[in-house]
Amino acid sequence: AKKSGRNRCAAFTHSLHEQTSRNLRLASDLHRALERNEFRVQYQPLLSLASGEVTALEALIRWQHPAEGLLFPDEFITVAEDAGLIVSIGAWVLIEACTQTARWTQHCLELSINVNVSAYQLTDELIGQVTTALSESGLPAKQLVLEVTESAVMSNARAGISVLKRLRDLGVRISVDDFGTGYSSLAYLHDLPVDELKIDRAFVQCLAGTEADAAIVTSIIELAHTMGLRAVAEGVETLAQASAVRSLGCDSGQGFLWSRPVGPESVPALLKLRPHA
Ligand code: C2E
Ligand code: CA
Ligand code: CA
Ligand code: CA
Repeated sequence: AKKSGRNRCAAFTHSLHEQTSRNLRLASDLHRALERNEFRVQYQPLLSLASGEVTALEALIRWQHPAEGLLFPDEFITVAEDAGLIVSIGAWVLIEACTQTARWTQHCLELSINVNVSAYQLTDELIGQVTTALSESGLPAKQLVLEVTESAVMSNARAGISVLKRLRDLGVRISVDDFGTGYSSLAYLHDLPVDELKIDRAFVQCLAGTEADAAIVTSIIELAHTMGLRAVAEGVETLAQASAVRSLGCDSGQGFLWSRPVGPESVPALLKLRPHA
């Protein structure tokens, strides 16, 4: 047992070492990725559960790495944050997503774009970046939604809340991502200048399960509506989950049931998407 324990430990150290050196390589590649135009944005629709219409898209970054292929954000966002690159990458995503959406909105009026914002971006600099993205793209501010997690805001609450307030003064909307996973949910919610709660997919995906799961989703939706906020269910994969969140009064849904994230060339077809059932 002792021997196998030591082997496991060696294997663990080895893979940790490999992970670290891979991240170091990625970090150095990341410095060139922007100028080499290696980032892509994929889009996933949010549908109104009442009308079945696509009302918004979420912008999700990908990295077309020259050697490693298409990388997903879980593999490089933390690396980008640690390397101090997330602010410039985030600014690129904002301009790219707003520019694409301004084109699509000519065919689908009122289409909104949800853009994820990291904790490191929640500074005064973000106000300027958002203003630039809106003016360069011509997208009306009311069609931009910024998705932040509670922990991102609460890591520096005073500054974070002040940035969010000023963004809302511009007419931009704020969505709380992964709602229900942070420990401070209820205590701080009334201080947050926000418009929408996105119910984390962990809660949505066990909806067809026990009553306790339904109770959590029900409470979040009621909380949202009591505070005048919209509720969005993320990670909807099955018809049962879709009809459950719809009957609980949730406003919008997003998930593989309707569409995986797709490249911009596939978005026009998505905008004609009709609901299941
Ligand atoms: P998120 O903001 O919670 O985004 C939703 C994630 O869930 C996406 O993963 C999406 O592809 C996935 N998803 C959507 N529907 C379903 C479903 O029905 N089932 C399952 N199992 N998954 C679903 P993705 O694209 O890999 O993004 C992962 C995370 O990376 C995002 O989580 C977000 O936190 C972060 N991220 C993505 N794009 C950006 C960005 O431009 N900037 C920053 N700072 N973070 C980003
Ligand atoms: Ca998100
Ligand atoms: Ca989320
Ligand atoms: Ca997430």
